[in-house]
Amino acid sequence: MKTPTQFIRHAALLAPVIIGEKTINYKDVKTESVRDQTCHLCGGKTDGIGISTKTGIKDTFTDVGYARQTASKSLCAGCAFCLSYREMRNYSIVATETELIHPDRARLQQLLIHPPDPPFIICIAVSGQKWVHFKGEVVYSRERFVITMEDTQVVVEPSKFEKLSRLIEVLMMEFSKAEIESGNYSQARIKKFGLTKWEMIDQELSAARGNNLFKLAVHTAQKREEEPCILDLIPEMSMLDSHHSSSTPHGGAEIKSDSRSIPKSGDESSGLLKAAQSEQLTWDIF
Ligand SMILES: [Zn+2]
Repeated sequence: MKTPTQFIRHAALLAPVIIGEKTINYKDVKTESVRDQTCHLCGGKTDGIGISTKTGIKDTFTDVGYARQTASKSLCAGCAFCLSYREMRNYSIVATETELIHPDRARLQQLLIHPPDPPFIICIAVSGQKWVHFKGEVVYSRERFVITMEDTQVVVEPSKFEKLSRLIEVLMMEFSKAEIESGNYSQARIKKFGLTKWEMIDQELSAARGNNLFKLAVHTAQKREEEPCILDLIPEMSMLDSHHSSSTPHGGAEIKSDSRSIPKSGDESSGLLKAAQSEQLTWDIF
């Protein structure tokens, strides 16, 4: 079984990797016979091929604590490869058995919601100053998997991640990421956004605030031109009055909480109205 660096090396050598205007042609690094059977850094098999730690690990390397097999003085071909490219530190890495990409935050978000076919590995560079690959994990499930963000491992369940991302992106119509991440919002912006709407969304987010999945969702969240629809996440939102809302067709802002004011079907927002009506019914029952 391949370790993270061995898996990434294999993917990187399959085809050139395109980042915007730039193309990176990864080439294998020169290796030699090594005496240790186990890699110093990743703990994987060397198969007798690699480089010495003296050659591959620079004095400036600050992650000595992550070495899995300190008795070994050899690096496997995977670690030798991954440590020799600055791009492997500067960019996020998503590798599968058939390709390697260096995704931007928007693409990362898509991949976390719709992961590739396993096995795969996702390593997210935030500062661009840390080696993330050998701290990662090759995963075998799309439903629940571990990714690495800088030095932190994050367990991702795509549906939970998507929910957080959409809620955060609705708030980003008015608030900064710093406000959303800290929970310290500008009072003026709350007023502009709509107090009730803000309360509903922030209440949903407050349980997750501070956990790693929340941080990951904030990191990859995108500023949208149109407000993301979250009525399926917070159906009560459809009951909100419009004055406080920066209304869009998805915001459900035209719907009044008083069921008598709901116009007849055929109205352009009838889908939302149905949601509002069923919500009203639920409330009537209880
Ligand atoms: Zn290794």
